[in-house]
Amino acid sequence: MRPMIQTETSRVNFRWIMPFEEGNRDLKQLLGGKGANLAEMTRAGLAVPPGFTITTEACRAYYQGSNLPEGLLEELQQSMTALEQKKGQRFGDPTAPLLISVRSGSVNSMPGMMDTILNLGLNDETVKGLARLSGNERFALDCYRRFIQMFSNVVFGVESVYFEKILRTLKQERKVDTDQELTAEDLSGLIDAYKNTVKSIAGKVFPQDVQEQLELAVESVFRSWNNNRAVIYRRLHAIPDEQGTAVNIQSMVFGNLGDDCGTGVLFTRNPSTGERKLFGEYLTNAQGEDVVAGVRTPKAIAEMEQEMPEIYQLLSDTAAQLEAHYRDVQDIEFTIEKNRLYMLQTRNAKRTAQAAIKTAVDFVHEQIITKEEAIERLDTAHLNQLLHPSIDPSIALDVLAVGLPASPGAASGQIVFDADVAEQWSKKQMKVLLVRNETTPEDIHGVIAAQGILTSHGGMTSHAAVVARGMGKPCVCGCEAIEVDDEQKQLMIGGRTYQEGDWISIDGSTGRVIEGKVELTDVNLSDELLLLLTWADEIRHLKIYANADHPEDARKAREFGAEGIGLCRTEHMFFGNDRLPVVQAMILAENLKDRKEALDRLLPMQQGDFEGLFKAMDGYPVTVRLLDPPLHEFLPNLEELNEQMAHLIQNGREQSSDAHKLRQLIKKVRSLHEVNPMLGQRGCRLGILYPEIYDMQIQALFQAAVICIHKGIEVIPHLMIPLVGHYTELKYFHGRITRMAQEIFDAAGVKCEYEIGTMIEVPRAALTAEKLVPYADFFSYGTNDLTQMTFGYSRDDAEGKFLTYYVDQKILPNNPFQVLDRDGVGQLVELATTKGKNLKPSLQAGICGEHGGDPESIMYCQEIGLDYVSCSPYRVPLARIAAAQAKLAADRRDSNCNLA
Ligand code: ADP
Ligand code: MG
Ligand code: MG
Repeated sequence: MRPMIQTETSRVNFRWIMPFEEGNRDLKQLLGGKGANLAEMTRAGLAVPPGFTITTEACRAYYQGSNLPEGLLEELQQSMTALEQKKGQRFGDPTAPLLISVRSGSVNSMPGMMDTILNLGLNDETVKGLARLSGNERFALDCYRRFIQMFSNVVFGVESVYFEKILRTLKQERKVDTDQELTAEDLSGLIDAYKNTVKSIAGKVFPQDVQEQLELAVESVFRSWNNNRAVIYRRLHAIPDEQGTAVNIQSMVFGNLGDDCGTGVLFTRNPSTGERKLFGEYLTNAQGEDVVAGVRTPKAIAEMEQEMPEIYQLLSDTAAQLEAHYRDVQDIEFTIEKNRLYMLQTRNAKRTAQAAIKTAVDFVHEQIITKEEAIERLDTAHLNQLLHPSIDPSIALDVLAVGLPASPGAASGQIVFDADVAEQWSKKQMKVLLVRNETTPEDIHGVIAAQGILTSHGGMTSHAAVVARGMGKPCVCGCEAIEVDDEQKQLMIGGRTYQEGDWISIDGSTGRVIEGKVELTDVNLSDELLLLLTWADEIRHLKIYANADHPEDARKAREFGAEGIGLCRTEHMFFGNDRLPVVQAMILAENLKDRKEALDRLLPMQQGDFEGLFKAMDGYPVTVRLLDPPLHEFLPNLEELNEQMAHLIQNGREQSSDAHKLRQLIKKVRSLHEVNPMLGQRGCRLGILYPEIYDMQIQALFQAAVICIHKGIEVIPHLMIPLVGHYTELKYFHGRITRMAQEIFDAAGVKCEYEIGTMIEVPRAALTAEKLVPYADFFSYGTNDLTQMTFGYSRDDAEGKFLTYYVDQKILPNNPFQVLDRDGVGQLVELATTKGKNLKPSLQAGICGEHGGDPESIMYCQEIGLDYVSCSPYRVPLARIAAAQAKLAADRRDSNCNLA
């Protein structure tokens, strides 16, 4: 099972261990990132202290048997002997002791998550040898006390605070500020105190046998793979638990031997801005993690140019060499021993989204990578950060509470508790934050008007969260620590009370609720990002549309590069403050005449909406979905109405005209009640029962088109019929639309091209796609509903109840509402597309809904040959990049096939 490690140069075939000279960067899976890169640097001729790597396979074998695997100790022995020969020192020899570091090294970098031990091989005898050899007793003792601390921490689990406390007390007694000022005698005492601490805390005698030290250390590094922070980090970054860590054993070099020594960290470019300039810190006369530990304030790398000019030159040459070799920004660890520079680590640097973009573009301009590689390297999830306003991280914040980070971005505003007030205030150019216990669809106009939304209840998929994400509006949900009093118009947070009009801020990326107004950085697509996006556009095949319901969203979408609107949900146009009463009158109408009257009042409003969209999308298609949700969603809920009724009765007004109206309303709400609204009278079913509603929308749309044509705007309407399950439903509307369009065009004396299509969101529609084709110019997969109906999950119930548990228990690989389920839902999409395109090659197919902005789902759309994806405006830039990545991946697959 376990392959032998064989390389051209190896003389001995080892199973578990590989010396640095024999590895290379491509063996990352086996050697871990650190080991592979140490090997690569060794091969490149850089000064790397010699050593070897115990493979991740050994770690996996360790976990299988919970013992060091058979043969490992013998290989370790031989490797140590080879190292001794190379260094001319002996492990445990009191005259010339070999000292080593034992360093963890996982395949994916997990900075600081696992353990490393320095100066291993020191004991009461060898420390004297080190003192004699270096001519520096203080130094030797300093190494020893560090070793005891690190070893006991990693191997015996003695927490560092115990050692730090002793050190602090000693410095206070000696009245000194820094460790450097402690004398050899002080350190000697410290070592005894440390040993006693180990005995009292862990009940262990600090081992003097160096072989025992080594074996214990190796095993502990294996074990550190499963310490808490490593487990959490892996979960966060989806790193497989079974991968295991390698262990690197490397001879020590010393940065703490005097002022011509030091240690530091260097980035080849600035990791926060991407600026092309060495960025880093170092400390003279220091070891290991002193730089990051914050005990002493490190110096900026630029100072080294004066302090150690030759080393600085060599370091910057090496940095350039490594960057060119790896063709990426490097994060380098180095140590200087007696004016000699040693490289201890290099890896591709973690960086901010901003820096990722700048360096990608710069690398292309410097001809280090191609445009395609620049695109491939981008992490779309990471870029998301840039597409929302954020809080300047350098500002000190008064954080009042933390809720769920429901929709990224930050917002400051004056708080309001009511959607109407939000709308009124925002018309007066005030910035408002809508604070609610939870939001309902009726609050939509308040959500639109607000800078951001804060709710005390509701989860990541609550109405507020979904709507806010769609609009790219910051939202913090389910913040149970706040108390919202709608009646008193007060917000209570941890003993503080805020009145309507007071300023607070929220950060939807972290869930923080913050006191007062804070400065925000605006969404500003940098020139570099704009350039990258044009490169992505050259590569990608999928068209990117946006889901936009309002002209304002449409403009944003255009600004972000959308090539049309793929989904306009017209019901969102029904919720405005001026609309809802008319919509309700329309629903409550007792007869066709009354209903038509109400619809006549809605028509000009709806027409105005469409004109706005056509104008914003001049020259690009606007896909309008006719009314989808069931009518009861536009009426107040029953509980609320019953409460109002109870109130009237209490006040003896049960015979009043108010009570009469209320009774009518309650009756209507009852009659519209559905046991299962998701599968009830919605979508085109509604349109067939009340054709006058759809007629009004169709009329508004074509009249708007005519008006825009007169203004010289190029309009491309796409009409979309939702929730079709049987082709006759589509056929019915196809006829009506065609007739009405003709009438309106004839009357106006102008016309335009338009398309009719259907959403495919009922499995039956997908299965019978060939029957839909004669009546459809396009198929738009409503993958939210299609997922609901294919799995038989109601999204609201599933996400609130069992879905998270399913994903945790690995019953499902992920939430199918976030990542499109290829095997099931995907099969329906593929089937319908194939059938459709076979019969009508010009048929356009795409997805709308939340999957449209998900990179993995975009990859899938590319694979199965769809034409477009439609996503929320704020995700359009990411979708452009993801679509280009998908195309590149497809090209690569094709060329691999051709080679094979
Ligand atoms: P991490 O993965 O947490 O960065 P490392 O294994 O890189 O841990 O070790 C941390 C630091 O310890 C290194 O940056 C380096 O300063 C120091 N170090 C490790 N090995 C050696 C060595 N052989 N000689 C000198 N210093 C070392
Ligand atoms: Mg390191
Ligand atoms: Mg739907």
